[in-house]
Amino acid sequence: MIRLQFDNRLLRELPGDTSGAPGSRQTPGVCWAAVQPTPVAQPVLLAHSSEVAATLGLSAANVRAPEFLAAFCGNQLLPGMSAYATRYGGHQFGNWAGQLGDGRAIGLGEILNQAGQRWELQLKGAGPTPYSRRADGRAVLRSSIREFLCSEAMHHLGIPTTRALSLIATGEQVVRDMFYDGHPRAEPGAVVCRVAPSFIRFGNFEILAAHGEQALLQRLLDLTLDRDFPQIVGAPAERYAIWFRQVCERTAHLMVEWLRVGFVHGVMNTDNMSILGLTIDYGPYGWVEDFDPGWTPNTTDAGMKRYCFAQQPAVARWNLERLAEALQRVLPARNWLDDGLAQFDTSLQTGLSAMLAAKFGWLDWQEGDAALVEDIFDLMQRAEVDMSEFFRALAELKQGSVDVELLRPAFYQEHLMQNHRALFQQWLERYAARLGRQQESDAERRTRMNRVNPRFILRNYLAQQAIEAAEQGDLSMLDRLMQAARQPYSADLPPELTAKRPAWAVNKPGCSTLSCSS
Ligand code: AMP
Ligand code: MG
Repeated sequence: MIRLQFDNRLLRELPGDTSGAPGSRQTPGVCWAAVQPTPVAQPVLLAHSSEVAATLGLSAANVRAPEFLAAFCGNQLLPGMSAYATRYGGHQFGNWAGQLGDGRAIGLGEILNQAGQRWELQLKGAGPTPYSRRADGRAVLRSSIREFLCSEAMHHLGIPTTRALSLIATGEQVVRDMFYDGHPRAEPGAVVCRVAPSFIRFGNFEILAAHGEQALLQRLLDLTLDRDFPQIVGAPAERYAIWFRQVCERTAHLMVEWLRVGFVHGVMNTDNMSILGLTIDYGPYGWVEDFDPGWTPNTTDAGMKRYCFAQQPAVARWNLERLAEALQRVLPARNWLDDGLAQFDTSLQTGLSAMLAAKFGWLDWQEGDAALVEDIFDLMQRAEVDMSEFFRALAELKQGSVDVELLRPAFYQEHLMQNHRALFQQWLERYAARLGRQQESDAERRTRMNRVNPRFILRNYLAQQAIEAAEQGDLSMLDRLMQAARQPYSADLPPELTAKRPAWAVNKPGCSTLSCSS
């Protein structure tokens, strides 16, 4: 018997549309709408995260039980569950897009676990909601595998993220035009159960401000503070100020962490920004391989590059400004909103220098370090050096014998290595001189560097291999990636899971760039 303790505060404390009426529609005056997941034909559990299951208090036997499968594919709710979709809006690619909402996400309720933690459960791909607009509320297996794997991979990298409990194939087909070129085809469908302390997005606040629903905005704000930021105490005005500063801080921290590992979200619209500073909504994301600050995996953004790697902190700030604008409707004291944004800038700067110092193995951030970083990033871009391989190779440097050959594994192309050989050698000598100013053995430094520079990242070509195998019924790659994701900093991972992108993957769909089709 699966026994979970539900305490559905969002449903209890905020008004909702309980009509259960079918069809897409605007839902003014409410924060959510009651929906039922649409049952699926032949659910099969493809994968689950044992860590998330344990956090929720689910045993291995619970996960194997038919009621687990039925609940997390949306066929039969568990006692205490109540299904809903939330209303939000958002700025997409810089423009206000109006009401969006959970178009294919269905909340199941909030669990209180043994430790007293609150975890909200949410199915993605479980059928249409009032916010589905013209779409079907479903998700394909390929994007579901990507969301499932990457949520867990990010968690084990130590990066704030929503989690994934389960990945279930529906046994039904979903039609998608993957390249947006007029060639739709049927693909296997899937449902992921996502888990987070809260799924509230910047867009949940923005939609209420855009519609002048001040009283409701105030209630959402109070629920967020009370439920999701209970550690903040004090007089109301003071609490709001502290809260917004924390939202800004958490967002800055998330940006620093994405930059540390080379993660590019791909669609940083305000509806994809978590109020808790979690990575949320895994779509056409990717990982920087050959170093390029301007790289984006999202084909829809190929022209503008609004959401490219290096642009992410600036976009996060822009998004926080849109959130501040929304909050201003109920909290006219503008100065603390400005304070929060200033906090973002400060947290970003201090976070970036601390992160870069750690990546390069420096015990502190000194004058002159910025030039060393800039120079090597410039070289890495020109010579198309793999970012993750570079830092693992750099950790191996021996101060007594500086040799550019050390970096060979990070190069994709021999001629680019030869052309830039002397420049890399010169840089390594400057770097070794910098290391010489700190009292630390090479081995100690290597250990520290390898704790922040991952050996395993979920490179798109790896995820794509898991997808293609799973579509043929072979789950072994999915399983192996999940195993590797659990210890991303380890030196003993299978070489085929840590190898930089092979030549065959350079232009293969899904392996370098992706469309938003999911
Ligand atoms: P995204 O680009 O994935 O962040 O989605 C933007 C909006 O489109 C959100 O409101 C989603 O819920 C909605 N959406 C995306 N795909 C679907 C789908 N297949 N069915 C219904 N709504 C969707
Ligand atoms: Mg989204």
